[in-house]
Amino acid sequence: MRKVGMQKAKRIALVAHDNMKRALMEWALFNADVLSTHTLFATGTTGNLLSEALSLPVHCFKSGPLGGDQQIGAKISEGGIDMVIFFWDPLEPHPHDVDVKALLRIAVVYNVPIACNRATADFLISSHLIQEAYERIVEDFDAVQGKRTAELRSVKG
Ligand code: PGA
Repeated sequence: MRKVGMQKAKRIALVAHDNMKRALMEWALFNADVLSTHTLFATGTTGNLLSEALSLPVHCFKSGPLGGDQQIGAKISEGGIDMVIFFWDPLEPHPHDVDVKALLRIAVVYNVPIACNRATADFLISSHLIQEAYERIVEDFDAVQGKRTAELRSVKG
């Protein structure tokens, strides 16, 4: 296991499916003061709407169906995202359902806090940890991979 540090100012990724965008905008406006103290990332459409609504800079990835969810997942794997607020739609199928599942999975792999509904988002944003440095515990994947490579090398040899 190893510890990954998070600064006081978190790098927060926000995503909302179309039917959930209104709810995310309401939530973000209600929490605008807290959000303004963090660095915000989002999928394309969500990010543009958020930036307008909050008058805050939001780093926009591609739109979700065009790879934005995957970009957020990649950034999590690189250690560039500390928290995800993901209002996904539980009542409609989406063309990029596999990407949604991949993002949920990678957040769990890297032990990144992720809120998938409004109540959980309320709990995350009102936690005292949102304004404090924090170390999250992550599996030491480099060590695991090194061990696996060594094992497979010995099988080959
Ligand atoms: P969007 O993507 O913010 O570009 O709408 C969200 C999604 O559908 O994953």
